[in-house]
Amino acid sequence: MAAGLANEALTVECLYCRGNLRRGVVPFTLDRRGYHVTWDAVPAWVCAQCGEPLFDAEVVDAMQRTLSALDQQSAILAHAGETGSES
Ligand SMILES: [Zn+2]
Repeated sequence: MAAGLANEALTVECLYCRGNLRRGVVPFTLDRRGYHVTWDAVPAWVCAQCGEPLFDAEVVDAMQRTLSALDQQSAILAHAGETGSES
């Protein structure tokens, strides 16, 4: 089984205040053109001081893949009623 890229041996500190980051989940909302995405619980490193989340590369990657799929399907959806009789 793949261990993934997560390397917990790395010193993980907040990019903003250099506080300690803890493993947790955060809600994450994105406003896209024509639709909005809200994840209730995205795995993240969360700063104990300022609460700022830091996402692992694999999480960012997964979100980007999800969004590109959503973009594609949304484009189809946006044009779904336009051609009418085509089937
Ligand atoms: Zn912080």
